[in-house]
Amino acid sequence: MATKNKTPVSVVTGGAGFLGSHLCDRLLAEGHRVIALDNLLTGNTDNIAHLAGNRRFTFIKHNVTQYIYLPGCVDYIFHFASPASPIDYLELPIQTLKVGSLGTMNCLGLAKAKGATFLLASTSECYGDPLQHPQKETYWGNVNPIGPRGVYDEAKRFAEAMTMAYHRYHGVDTKIVRIFNTYGPRMRLRDGRVVPAFIGQALKGKPLTVFGDGSQTRSFTYVTDEIDGIWRLSQAKYHEPVNIGNPTEFTILEFAGLVRKLLGSKSRVIRKPLPVDDPKQRRPDITLARKLLGWEPKVGLEDGLRRTIEYFRGRIG
Ligand code: UDP
Repeated sequence: MATKNKTPVSVVTGGAGFLGSHLCDRLLAEGHRVIALDNLLTGNTDNIAHLAGNRRFTFIKHNVTQYIYLPGCVDYIFHFASPASPIDYLELPIQTLKVGSLGTMNCLGLAKAKGATFLLASTSECYGDPLQHPQKETYWGNVNPIGPRGVYDEAKRFAEAMTMAYHRYHGVDTKIVRIFNTYGPRMRLRDGRVVPAFIGQALKGKPLTVFGDGSQTRSFTYVTDEIDGIWRLSQAKYHEPVNIGNPTEFTILEFAGLVRKLLGSKSRVIRKPLPVDDPKQRRPDITLARKLLGWEPKVGLEDGLRRTIEYFRGRIG
């Protein structure tokens, strides 16, 4: 548990990833010492290059599905390591299952040994293709365990179960955040998720690939909002899952239109087959986050997309 008189030490798994690296920034800004662990399977040291030379920041290349040895005291463990885009976890199914199961087990073991607070990065994918809309934390979900997305969904569901077991059986101070579609700088241009896909396509003057008829919905959260919710949750006395996501919902076709508008793009929209088990609708109910954390998103989609477009523009030749 963090004491008042010393610099808190936080471990961030997946610390060189999109969300993990933004979380490292926030923790450093909060005065923590940060140890980022990442095996760089989908993470990239470019995301933490700006932290080189910061005496409160350490990067260790390590696969957290293997035993984690860290000397000294640790106050918080943020378990963010995992492939996170549907394309990644289709290409890396075993690694996805392992980091959600064995990786979570190792991180919880470390939390127990160090007396640290543990925060699990879980996901709206726990709700699968939801039959309840919007999704409340009390909804148990509609997941196909053996479909192509099952490797991610079930790994995260297992991770939640494991986290609650360590809390209930070992008394570890645990938190679970269910993260909804989050976007912003440091996403990989080619990670396959809809935000970098459409921005990259529009910037290159290529057609925008809408999967299915584009009537499926998503609710997009800008990364700084997501990280703020996660930080607040880490400081709260609450152990069950909490949704952190922007409740403003768009169809994918509307989203394609918005990207074209913001970029003044003439790119056409073309249809591609809908991936298997692609959820038809997704929107968080954030009543709990509002009440518990006083949190709600501040950055609107147009504003967030403009900032993200600037980042990607700098990465396209
Ligand atoms: N999508 C799309 N075109 C793309 C990439 C994604 O139409 O090039 C759709 C996808 O089918 C899904 C939504 O956009 O309905 C969000 O997909 P993403 O991969 O970003 O994440 P998901 O929410 O499915 O995990």
